[in-house]
Amino acid sequence: MPAAISGDLAEVVAADMTGAVFTCAGCNHSGPVATLRVWEPAPGLVDRCPNCTDVILRLVRTPDRVFLCLTGATRLEIPLDS
Ligand SMILES: [Zn+2]
Repeated sequence: MPAAISGDLAEVVAADMTGAVFTCAGCNHSGPVATLRVWEPAPGLVDRCPNCTDVILRLVRTPDRVFLCLTGATRLEIPLDS
């Protein structure tokens, strides 16, 4: 991975997601990540769109890795500290 993209990704992963905004791939609804509906029980976190209930993201933690799937979002807008 080129150093430039690696640095950008490191900044995004470390960012506070409180103010992040998602856009649903299913219905194009946009809203704060905090409004996603969490489905439990699941083998990890499954967050669904509050408008159409499509899966927006899945997050699974293992002892040494985190798996993040964002296929349900067309965009994730993350504010950076400036
Ligand atoms: Zn949706």
